[in-house]
Amino acid sequence: MVRRELKERVTAVLRDKGLDADETLRRMREMNVVMEGPPILQVLLPDCNVGHVLSFCCPGWGKGAFSQFLLSAGYSVEEEDDQTVELPDDGSQDCHTGCQHVTTLRNGDGCTVTVNESVSMSPLVPIFFAETTASINYVSADGVACLYPEMTLYKMALTNYARAFLDEDRQAGMTTYIANGFRIVDTCENTHNHPPIHHLDSLEEELPVNCQQKPRRINGPDALMVPFTKGGFVPVRPFVRWRLGYNWRLENGALRNRDVIISVESEGGSFIEYNHVQPRFNLEDALYGHLDVHFDEW
Ligand SMILES: [Zn+2]
Repeated sequence: MVRRELKERVTAVLRDKGLDADETLRRMREMNVVMEGPPILQVLLPDCNVGHVLSFCCPGWGKGAFSQFLLSAGYSVEEEDDQTVELPDDGSQDCHTGCQHVTTLRNGDGCTVTVNESVSMSPLVPIFFAETTASINYVSADGVACLYPEMTLYKMALTNYARAFLDEDRQAGMTTYIANGFRIVDTCENTHNHPPIHHLDSLEEELPVNCQQKPRRINGPDALMVPFTKGGFVPVRPFVRWRLGYNWRLENGALRNRDVIISVESEGGSFIEYNHVQPRFNLEDALYGHLDVHFDEW
C-alpha cells in the first residue's frame, strides 16, 4: 500500500514535468540516473511545498543519453553551466559542488528540469551539497530513499555548510523549509559534545544520529529506502560515504568551516575521496603517478 502510494506520488511529480513515469524510470535504470530536489521531499511529506526544481543526477557516461531522452520528450536546452570553470577570485576549490556540469532544459509548457552531471561514477554525489538534510533524498528506478529519515520525517533538519555556496543564499533557502514547519538545527555543537577532530574513516558509531559530523554510508542502517515493488531496493552503486559540511568552533571561539566530504567506492572496496583538494577524480594523475613510481623501481 505504502509502496503503491509512493510510486503514484513519483508518477505525479514526473507528470507535472510532462514526463511519462515508466519510460523515465526505465531510462534512469539504464543510465544509473537518480532524481532529487524539493519535489522529492514532497513525495515523502505530501503537505510540504518547498519548490519545484527537479534535477536528474547522472554519472558522466549517462549524461548524453539521458539528455537525449529529455529532448525526445519535448525538452530543449536552455542553459549550460560548466561547474569546473575556475572563477578568478575563488579558485577551483570554492567550486566543489559535486557536479561537473549542469544543464537546464525547458519544454513547450514552460516546465524546467536540470541534468546534473556528477563528478563521480556515482550519480549521488551532487545531492550531498543540499542546503539542509531535508533535501538529501533521492528517487532511483527502484524506489524512494530518504537519507536522514529520523529527522526529515519529523520535520527536523541539519544545516549543511557546503563551502561552495554563500551563507546568505543558504539562509534564504531555509526560510521556505521553516515556512513549511521545519525546525532547522544550525550547528549540532549546541546540542552535544564532539570528540577531537576526526576523519570520514573514523567514529561513525560514536556520534549521535542528529550530528553534522557523523559520517554516513548509502548502504548504512540509517537510510530509509522504500522500493516500488516487492523486488526490493538495491542502493545505488557504486556505494558512497559522506559527511556534511559544518562549522567547527576553535578554542578562541572563532568558527572554521569544514566542507562536505564525499567518498565513492572503487574497485577492491577502497574509497576515493572527493573534497576541495580533489574535486574530481583525475585518472591521468592516478595512472601516471603510479607509473612514475613503477619506473623508478625499475
Ligand atoms: Zn554533532
